[in-house]
Amino acid sequence: MPPLLSSFPALCDGFSEIFQAVAAQKGGKVADYIPQLGRVDPERYGLGLCTVDNQRFSLGDSNVDFCLQSGCKPINYALALEEHGEAKVHQYVGREPSGRSFNELTLGPDDRPHNPMINAGAILICSLIRPELDPADRFDHVMERWQALQGGHRPGFSNATYLSERQTADRNYALGYYMQERRVFPKNTALIPTLEFYFQCCSIESNCERLSVVAATLASGGLCPATGERLLSPRTVRDTLSLMSSCGMYDFSGEFAFTVGLPAKSGVSGMVLVVVPDLFGLCIWSPRVDRSGNSVRGVEFCKAMVSRYNFHLLDSRLGGSGKEDPRGLAFP
Ligand code: GLN
Repeated sequence: MPPLLSSFPALCDGFSEIFQAVAAQKGGKVADYIPQLGRVDPERYGLGLCTVDNQRFSLGDSNVDFCLQSGCKPINYALALEEHGEAKVHQYVGREPSGRSFNELTLGPDDRPHNPMINAGAILICSLIRPELDPADRFDHVMERWQALQGGHRPGFSNATYLSERQTADRNYALGYYMQERRVFPKNTALIPTLEFYFQCCSIESNCERLSVVAATLASGGLCPATGERLLSPRTVRDTLSLMSSCGMYDFSGEFAFTVGLPAKSGVSGMVLVVVPDLFGLCIWSPRVDRSGNSVRGVEFCKAMVSRYNFHLLDSRLGGSGKEDPRGLAFP
């Protein structure tokens, strides 16, 4: 198959220029609610890119590990969809942006969590993933799926992050008990193991290069570009990308959808996964986050990328945007 992006080297040059320009951004603050995040060098900055035909590019601290935090949420959602299908999953969790912060103690009007990309919904999703397994096998299952999504590279796990997450999780416990009281969980859900499973997923570690392959798997409808293996169904990927588009950037999701127009998911460790469907997946990491919990440089990179390239999902490909497009225009 010829490279999908025939002008890939030119795209890489363009991304290097944007990356350098955005490095000047020093806004935001490293999340410090746990010491393992608070100690990260705020100047860290990396980018990994993987195209749907497995061309790779990386910049800066692209192979330095960080914890996923909320970056685990879209993949857990995808795993729950693969296991139960959309109808069953959404009996328990909504698909509406909450407009509130990621850990707000609130449920939707029908007592379901608003969506799987905020904490309440992500905890609920954890109760749906292989609930019949004991906790160790359940976590192994998730690690195996991440390994496959990373083209065969097993992610890391920070036990220190996990222990800190568990120790400082009053709000997540409160969300869990609130949902238990409202009978939101499936019958027989064991609350504490479910919360611990959620903290473990947040403590999985990886880096921009590896995570770009995960994002590229989403960009290619569930086929891993590194191995050619089908890992997720096209429908699972569509649902996951839909919710990343509407809810993936916390209470900045509407703004992000308007200005950037791409499915993305951020984590408070400063990572942002970005998907340009049918083209490539991207992971940017810079630990200083804004008030919503989104990486400042990550968001700035996305904005600059979309003002130079025709990648906003609603940018017309019929011509006229005046922006660069490595695919060429549909009807030049
Ligand atoms: N571990 C964090 C929490 O549950 C993850 C949140 C995040 O990345 N926004 O509060």
